Amino acid sequence: MSKKIASAAIRGANQVARQAEEELEKALAEHGPDKKVELPDTAYFLPVIYAMTGYKVEKIGDMQEVMKKINNLVPEEPKDKVWTPYLGPTLDAGMATLFADEIIESLKYVEEPIPYHLEENCPPEGDDFWLGAANDNMFRKRGLEFVDGSAPGFAAIVGAAPSSEIAADIARELQEKNLYVFMSGANPDGVSFAEQLRQEGVQMGWETRLVPFGKDITATVFALGFASRVAMAFGGVQPGDYRRNLIYNKNRTYAFVLALDEVDDIKYAQAAGAINFGFPTIADTDIPEILPTGICTYEHVVAMPKQTEEEDIYDEIVSKAIEVRGLKVEVEEVPVPVSYGPAFEGEIIRKEDMFVEFGGQRTPSFEYLQMVKDSDSVEDGKVVVNGPKIDEIEEGSQLPLGVMVYIYGRDMQEDFEPVMERMIHTYFNQASGLWHNGQRDINWVRISKAAKEEGFTFENMGDIIHARMHQEYGSVLDKVEVHIHTDEEKVKELREDARDAYHQRDERIMGMEDTDVDTYYSCVLCQSFAPDHVCIITPERSGLCGGYTWLDAKANYEIIPTGPNQPVKKGECIDEELGQWRGVNEYLEEASRGNLERFSAYSMIVDPMTSCGCFECIATILPSANGIMTVPREYDGMTPSGMKFSTLAGQIGGGIQTPGFIGHSKLYIASEKFISADGGFRRLVWMPKMLKEEIGDRLNERAAKEGIEDFVSMIADEEVATTEEEVLEFMQEVGHPALEMEPMM
Ligand code: SF4
Ligand code: ZN
Repeated sequence: MSKKIASAAIRGANQVARQAEEELEKALAEHGPDKKVELPDTAYFLPVIYAMTGYKVEKIGDMQEVMKKINNLVPEEPKDKVWTPYLGPTLDAGMATLFADEIIESLKYVEEPIPYHLEENCPPEGDDFWLGAANDNMFRKRGLEFVDGSAPGFAAIVGAAPSSEIAADIARELQEKNLYVFMSGANPDGVSFAEQLRQEGVQMGWETRLVPFGKDITATVFALGFASRVAMAFGGVQPGDYRRNLIYNKNRTYAFVLALDEVDDIKYAQAAGAINFGFPTIADTDIPEILPTGICTYEHVVAMPKQTEEEDIYDEIVSKAIEVRGLKVEVEEVPVPVSYGPAFEGEIIRKEDMFVEFGGQRTPSFEYLQMVKDSDSVEDGKVVVNGPKIDEIEEGSQLPLGVMVYIYGRDMQEDFEPVMERMIHTYFNQASGLWHNGQRDINWVRISKAAKEEGFTFENMGDIIHARMHQEYGSVLDKVEVHIHTDEEKVKELREDARDAYHQRDERIMGMEDTDVDTYYSCVLCQSFAPDHVCIITPERSGLCGGYTWLDAKANYEIIPTGPNQPVKKGECIDEELGQWRGVNEYLEEASRGNLERFSAYSMIVDPMTSCGCFECIATILPSANGIMTVPREYDGMTPSGMKFSTLAGQIGGGIQTPGFIGHSKLYIASEKFISADGGFRRLVWMPKMLKEEIGDRLNERAAKEGIEDFVSMIADEEVATTEEEVLEFMQEVGHPALEMEPMM
C-alpha cells in the first residue's frame, strides 16, 4: 500500500473532523446541549455511530462524546517520514470520517427541521430534489430487497460524470443490474451526478432505485447508515457489535463506491470509510490504488483513468466495479427492445410522457389468465394482437385493452390462475417504458413515448408474459399463448367472461370459513430476516403482508411443494375462541426451532402471532378508549398511540410475539375472525382516513350483518383525533360500541 493513500485519507479525515467540531460548537452555542437531534423517523439514532459503538445520540450534547471517539480514531496527519505498511490507520481514519459525517448531516436537520424531502420520490420539478436519509419505513421496505436478493446491493456515486449523457448511461446500466444507486457530493465545479440525471429527465427516487441523498460529500454516510441498519434489522446484529456488522456487510451487501472526477482528500477519506464495510472504490481518475486484497473481496481502490483520448472507459466502468466487488449478476432475458429488470418496476409514466394508455376507468379493459385443458388449442409463444396496433394510432391515444393469457400445463390447476394472473402487474412494470396499475377489470396500462421510439409494440406485452411465466412457473406449465385485444367490441364481450371468473374466485375464498378446512398453510418466507417468524394462514386470516390468502398459499404449495408454504394439519382444537389447535402449535414449535410454543389465530392479547416486518397494518391497544387502533404502512403521520408506524414497526418486528400488538393484512380487518377473541371489529376506534377509504365498504358490510349501520363513521381518524383523549371524546360523541364492552385487558 502506498504512503500517498494513507496520507490522503488521514488528511481528509482530519478536515472532516475539524468541520464536525466547528459545527458542533456552533450548534451547542446556539441551541444548548439538551436540544434534540435526530434523523427523520428512525429508531436507529445516528445509524453508523449506533451500529459501530452502540452509543445513542439523542441530544446535541451527546455528540461531544462522539467527538472524543473521533479524535481518538483519527490518526495524526502523517509527516513525511511516517510509513504505515498496513491498512489500520486508513481504516480508522475512514470510520472517524463517517462519524463526523453523521454529526454534520444530522445537525442540518436541527437547523432546518425538514431540509430534505421525506417522500419516496423526488418532486418532478425544481432543484430541491435531494432526499436525505431514508426513514425506517423506506429503509425496511427497501432493505428487504437486499435480504431477499431482489437487489444485490448498491453503487454509491460521488462526484459527477464527464457529461450528463454519460451519467444517464451509467445509471441505466446499474439499474439493469438491479443495483440501487446512492448519490452524494459534487465535482470540483460543483456539478453533481444527480443534477446530471435531472438534466437528462431521468426519474429519481427510491421507486426507481436512483436515490439522491445530498449534494454535500458528507451525505455519503447515508449509504453506509443504510447498510448498517440492514445488518441490525435483518441480520440480527446488535448495536455496538461493529465486527459482525462489518462482516455481515462484507459478505452480504454487494456495494461499491464509484468516484467520478477528481478525488480530493475528503473523498478519499469517505472511500476509506466504505472500505471498512468491504465496499471497494473504483475511480475514473488516476488516484493511488490499494490493490492487495483482504478487507474487501478483491481490490480496495482501483483507478481506471483514460489511457488515450478516444478510449471510452465509461462503457466498462460498471462491469469493472461489479467484477471488483465479486458480484455475479443474473440478468433475466426477456425479448423486448426496452430495458428489463426489477429496477424499472418503480418507474412512473406521466401523461406528458405517455404514448398510449389503456383502461384506468377511461376505456374498457381487463386481464384474465385462464387454464386450458386441451393441449392442442394452445400454441406456446404465440402472441396475437386483435385491433389497432401501436403504429396505427396517434400519440396520446386511449385504447381499450383485453389481455387474455391461455395456459396449458399437465400440472396446471384452476386454483393457480389468480396467483399467476396477479404477476402480470410485476412483469409489465419491470419493462422500462411500460407501466401497470390495478388488476382484473380495473387495470390501467401506459406505454411511454420513449418505449415506442425504441420499437416497443403491443405484441411485446405478450412476449413479456410468455417469457416470465416460463421462468417462474415452468414447473407447472408447458405452453403460454397471449391475445392482446384493442378492439372495443371484442374487449367488452370477453370482459363478461372474465368477470364471471373473478366472481367465482371471490365466492370461493369469501365463502370459506376456518371451520370448513382441516388444514391451514404456513408461510416462512420472512424467516430469511426474522428467523423465528411464522405466518399461519387460514381461510379467514390472510398472511400479514397481504400477499397470501389461504387459497394462494395452497396454490403455491402445490406449485412448489418444497417452498415456503407448507400444509399444517389443525389437529385437536385446544381453544375454539382463541383459535388454538394442537397441530398448529406443534408445527410452530418445530418451525421456530423451539422458540415459540403457542399461537392464537383470533387474539392479539393471548399468544398473538409473530410479526416479521412486512405487515400491511399494525394494530395496538388504546387502553383508555377500551379499543384498538390500526395504522397502515403508507400512513406516516402520528397516531393516538403516541407512535408513528415506523416506531411501532421497530417495536414489534423481527419475529417476536408482542401481546397487545399485531401486524396484520388489510383484508383481515373485515374478516369475521378479526381479533374475535378480544371483541372483534367493535374494538376498532381509530384508523387513518386512507384506510377507511380502502376497506370501509367491506367493514360496513361486515358490521351491518351484526346490526350496526355505518360503523366506519364511528371510527375516529386523524382529522378528529391524534391522542387517546381525543379518541375517547369522539367515541362519546358518536356513541361508539366499544364504550359498552367489557375492559380489554
Ligand atoms: Fe409469508 Fe407472512 Fe412473510 Fe407474507 S409476511 S411473505 S405471508 S411469512
Ligand atoms: Zn414478512
